[in-house]
Amino acid sequence: MKNISIIGATGSIGTQTLEVIRSDIHKYKLIAVTANKSYEKMIHIIDEFNPEIAVLTDEMAYKNLCSYFKDKSIKTEIKFGMEALNEAASNKDADIVVTSIVGMIGLMPTISAIRAGKDIALANKETLVVGGEIVKEEAKKYGVKILPVDSEHGAIFQCLQGNDHKAVKNILLTASGGPFRGKTEEELKNVTVKEALNHPNWSMGSKITIDSATLMNKGLEVIEAHWLFDMPFKNIKAIVHPQSIIHSMVEYKDGSIISQMAVPDMKLPIQYALNYPERCEAVIEPLDFFSIPSLQFEKPDLDTFKCLKFAYEAGEAGGIMPTVLNAANEYAVDLFLKEKISFNKIHEIIYDALNSFENKCIKDVNTIIEENKKVINYLKNKYNK
Ligand code: NAD
Ligand code: MG
Repeated sequence: MKNISIIGATGSIGTQTLEVIRSDIHKYKLIAVTANKSYEKMIHIIDEFNPEIAVLTDEMAYKNLCSYFKDKSIKTEIKFGMEALNEAASNKDADIVVTSIVGMIGLMPTISAIRAGKDIALANKETLVVGGEIVKEEAKKYGVKILPVDSEHGAIFQCLQGNDHKAVKNILLTASGGPFRGKTEEELKNVTVKEALNHPNWSMGSKITIDSATLMNKGLEVIEAHWLFDMPFKNIKAIVHPQSIIHSMVEYKDGSIISQMAVPDMKLPIQYALNYPERCEAVIEPLDFFSIPSLQFEKPDLDTFKCLKFAYEAGEAGGIMPTVLNAANEYAVDLFLKEKISFNKIHEIIYDALNSFENKCIKDVNTIIEENKKVINYLKNKYNK
């Protein structure tokens, strides 16, 4: 039996993790769950899975959840707040923690889980973007595994199995290109939130869907790959592959390229991360090669989709620059989703932040948290009219 905690249990990855758990209830047990506001989804999770602890970080939602269960006898302890979230992440009975919370707010719970000796099934890429070095050091110190859930990184992880790391030449990170592939900056001027949320291949949370439309998602994934697989940025190449069948590839020094393919369904990388190194019965549809008209590959357009270029630059610069990039992106995407800024303004805001903050070394987690705050405050003063 594998005991699982999910940080961000009500979102897209959280819900798909629950589907994987549901696929074999003799294999998995849900220990702890957390979410922000979605108390109704939390009610269903508690009723179905009886976890030991459920945490909400929104006070109103927490009160609603408590009042729903007021006269019912349940074994789940319901708690409120960030401290409780960290407690859930480090619950002693879990074997593995799925980090499916969105944004750099996932950094502290991830570190709490590592310090409690829990393996991490990592979906929350922002954590590695801002704190890759610290997370890796802590994971080494506490002897825990960081298992990638992101489909590309799950693919690369699989392509690396059984091979010598020194024989790897390049990591080839595939990207769908998002809903605006092939468009010019001029054509993107007036795109709507609805159009940006209409991803061609994947159904995901709203923040990552916008990141996919700007190609910032690929940029964050380049930095994520740098930390996960110990690769220099120049050897991590993004390739647009609109069908999302090849989930990424590893090129070896002898010229061999190994890819991992499957239908685009996050349940596979989630299941692989939960069970590594075991392979389980499929929880996804089989891939039918005869129904795929073609597999295409294109160079990403870095002049239009500047966020990807900025991410490479911030990653290369290191220090706090990835934190600045991520903070500005989280802030700008939020404004775009609230229809307060246009789509192209997202990369303008990120450019502004990257050019307004001096780089410095990260001493510890506090440096990241403080710099993140400074960037958000700077942008709030300037753009939140
Ligand atoms: P989502 O928005 O669907 O879900 C986010 C979860 O985090 C929810 O449970 C929500 O309640 C919780 N949450 C959000 N803000 C919070 C806060 N302030 N405090 C506490 N909890 C909070 O997001 P998602 O699409 O599932 O993505 C989650 C993470 O996984 C992101 O980092 C994303 O980049 C990564 N990821 C997602 C996919 C995908 O297919 N959705 C694929 C690869 C990687
Ligand atoms: Mg991905």
